[in-house]
Amino acid sequence: MTVAILSIGTELTRGEILDTNAHWLAGELTAAGFTVTAADTVDDDLDRIVTCIQRLLRTHLLVIATGGLGPTTDDLTAVAAARALGVDLVRNESALLAIRQRVESRGAILNPGHEKQADLPANAEVLPNTAGTAPGFLLTATGASIAFLPGVPREMKTMFTEQVLPRIRSQSPSNTHQIRLRTYGYGESIVGQHLAGLETLYPGLTVGYRVHFPEVDVKVHVRATTQSVARDVACEAAVEVRRRLGDVVFGEGEEEFPEIVGRAISARGWQLAVAESCTGGLLSHLLTSFPASSYFVGGAVTYANDAKTRLLGVPDQMLRSHGAVSAEVAIAMAEGARRLHQVDVALAVTGIAGPSGGTATKPVGLVHWAIAHPGGTSAQHRIFPGGRDDVRYGAAYAALDLLRR
Ligand code: ATP
Ligand code: MG
Repeated sequence: MTVAILSIGTELTRGEILDTNAHWLAGELTAAGFTVTAADTVDDDLDRIVTCIQRLLRTHLLVIATGGLGPTTDDLTAVAAARALGVDLVRNESALLAIRQRVESRGAILNPGHEKQADLPANAEVLPNTAGTAPGFLLTATGASIAFLPGVPREMKTMFTEQVLPRIRSQSPSNTHQIRLRTYGYGESIVGQHLAGLETLYPGLTVGYRVHFPEVDVKVHVRATTQSVARDVACEAAVEVRRRLGDVVFGEGEEEFPEIVGRAISARGWQLAVAESCTGGLLSHLLTSFPASSYFVGGAVTYANDAKTRLLGVPDQMLRSHGAVSAEVAIAMAEGARRLHQVDVALAVTGIAGPSGGTATKPVGLVHWAIAHPGGTSAQHRIFPGGRDDVRYGAAYAALDLLRR
């Protein structure tokens, strides 16, 4: 059964925002065993939305549309859906009640814009929105179904997972199971080399790779005659991936690298501080992307030499003789941060993020990072390839990785 995705919004066709909804939905639908064969985008124009809906329903058995369900005049999706299917737009009382409760729980008063969001095609099945105000809805016409979800990514994801997936799962043509293994430490080609031949060992297995530097995702996707066989084979293949890659696999599914690092620090009962130069706060940003108050104390962004001396006590003489990008300075920064914050462990990063500033002996991409902890202080260095962000992310991950293992 082929599935199409329809993204509605002028901000998309004007190139103002990236269509992350289609991207996410395509991955989820594929993982659930559907074959997505089209992802269309249309602007906020009533006639064109109507045409798009009609065309996609003729050629697909399932369409997932996002966007245009909100309270403003450019939100035309419900009107377009009713017109495309030749039904009236009617006020849905149960949807209105849910909207009223949501609005009033925020201490606001229901206005006509809110009420408009309860005007749905006559035969629509309402999809409750547990993450926002506008309800979604599902329509079926001549054997094909179309689900309309909000444009706001968080609401869309919640509604798809909670409301749509349980309703469509039984229509999935094949039984598939996918496991996403998260890796850090090897480049894509090295990961591929380690996993060579895996597909021939397990029936129905395809292995997919996706790089989002400095991580590489390995997706183990199995198609089988039954769901339980698909799951069992995928689990076996995932065990084999972990065996071959060792602790390069840092997590599974939606587990994020800083979260895993945070867990490792917490498990040791340590308090952590950081000292950052070229990462400019990125290390702190990554650590605080997840609740971190149990172990993360704070940091110092010391970009200028003078700041390294004043805040972290890095000797002026050391900066002059070794340069700010050196193992000596990374170590002094880590020890300075450890002293400053009175913690068990401190990380420090200093490097040349580029694009300018490199020399023959210290090229762009050179980063020194250090860890100071009760067992002593040590430093490492590497020349990271790529642009400024690659160097900064590469450096931040390398420093955090010292605390993972
Ligand atoms: P709202 O109730 O906020 O108006 P809506 O269902 O009407 O929600 P839109 O108005 O189309 O949705 O979009 C709301 C916001 O969601 C947009 O400003 C945009 O930031 C985001 N958004 C919409 N569509 C997408 C998409 N395809 N990919 C990523 N983000 C999107
Ligand atoms: Mg809107």
